[in-house]
Amino acid sequence: MLAEVTGDGGLPQEGGPKFTLELNQDQKDIREWVHGFAEGVVRPAAAEWDEREETPWPVIQEAAKIGLYGFEALGQFWADETGLTLPIANEELFWGDAGIGMAIMGTSLAVAAIFGQGTPEQMGEWIPQCFGTADDVKLGAFCASEPDAGSDVSAIRTTAKYDEAKDEWVINGQKAWATNGGIANVHVVIASVDRELGSRGHAAFVIPPGTKGCEQGAKVKKHGLRASHTADVHLDDCRVPGACLLGGKEKLDERLARVREGKKSKSQAAMQTFEASRPTVGAQALGIARAAYEYALDYAKERRQFGRAIVENQAIAFTLADMKLEIDAARLLVWRAAWMGRSGQKFENAEGSMSKLKAGEVAVWSTERAIQILGGNGYTREFPVERMHRDAKIYTIFEGTSEIQRLVISRALSGVHVK
Ligand SMILES: Cc1cc2nc3c(=O)[nH]c(=O)nc-3n(C[C@H](O)[C@H](O)[C@H](O)COP(=O)(O)OP(=O)(O)OC[C@H]3O[C@@H](n4cnc5c(N)ncnc54)[C@H](O)[C@@H]3O)c2cc1C
Repeated sequence: MLAEVTGDGGLPQEGGPKFTLELNQDQKDIREWVHGFAEGVVRPAAAEWDEREETPWPVIQEAAKIGLYGFEALGQFWADETGLTLPIANEELFWGDAGIGMAIMGTSLAVAAIFGQGTPEQMGEWIPQCFGTADDVKLGAFCASEPDAGSDVSAIRTTAKYDEAKDEWVINGQKAWATNGGIANVHVVIASVDRELGSRGHAAFVIPPGTKGCEQGAKVKKHGLRASHTADVHLDDCRVPGACLLGGKEKLDERLARVREGKKSKSQAAMQTFEASRPTVGAQALGIARAAYEYALDYAKERRQFGRAIVENQAIAFTLADMKLEIDAARLLVWRAAWMGRSGQKFENAEGSMSKLKAGEVAVWSTERAIQILGGNGYTREFPVERMHRDAKIYTIFEGTSEIQRLVISRALSGVHVK
């Protein structure tokens, strides 16, 4: 557990808790619990669902039955004041398999949006509906990206117009690459209520289950993460009650008025939220990297060429040393950022982006090295490392590409609006 630091130079207060990276018993227990599920249920199913390219409903159901899929689990992970339990749980689950991991964790994107922007009533109403029950599991989807608005979120064209007479919002547009898009019970959609204001004119809406005008478009066939459903979502005159605007209309009107008067918006606050969620994504990448490293290490000890185990060659052993080093370094960045986010520290140098950037790139690099260590076997679907490599690649793309993370970090540290 990381210790609290004071504002004055980051030194621990006298008599205050001391710096330690030793996990407490709760953290160890949760790690073991998730690891057990990843090893016993997720791993054995990984290759099958990757090939099928379908949502692994039975596995999600298993996760719900043991309490791993549901808002109680997320609440339990979040309750840890050090911030470490959430990344620890994600690392273990994605160590099992990233495609299935995302099928289980994808809902949390929608939940995070409702939790971050909704009123207490909206949280109480919609978050449970994102998960359903153990007997009838449901999913949530978060739809921000569009065909022409990926990294550039300000380019979002989906509009939401208020119909005062009916107290309804009418949403029109097309969303792209939505995890669980079209198969979710609850969709959270980002739409523009005032195009002239760019991203400051955006608002988030809940689309309740079965709403007319919200349809799945093309399902995307992917390079990796294939057990996780990704699809376009079409919104055609999709009408939702006024109460589906997250945060409520009064708050939105106040915010828009502030922006129109040229006053500061809360974009800074939104940035802090992104920074706080990035280490969780980084932890998922770490899980993949660690799985590939462990597999390659075992293989290198077993595989014999030229009369000796291949690990006896420095070329192989040093690669494994570098893999372990990079994974551990990335984990320290992830844990630092998770702790900062949970304890309300200011991300002066975009430490959240640093953690996601490093972990994503380490995952791509380590899984590629794992293929190399396995040689021809590594390149085949008989062995899991090629799947891990395909899965890892998305971590330099979604939730902000590596280039966008570098942009955020360089702007934070220089104070210059680097382009
Ligand atoms: C499997 C998967 C799941 C996803 N899930 C979701 C989801 O649930 N919800 C959701 O809303 N979205 C989701 N996305 C979308 C994802 O967030 C976007 O793909 C991502 O933000 C990148 O946007 P883009 O693909 O349009 O790339 P672009 O923005 O077109 O970028 C293309 C390239 O240009 C670079 N680039 C762009 N701008 C700059 C710049 N200013 N400086 C330097 N380089 C730049 C990028 O780094 C990248 O290398 C998902 C995508 C995938 C593939």
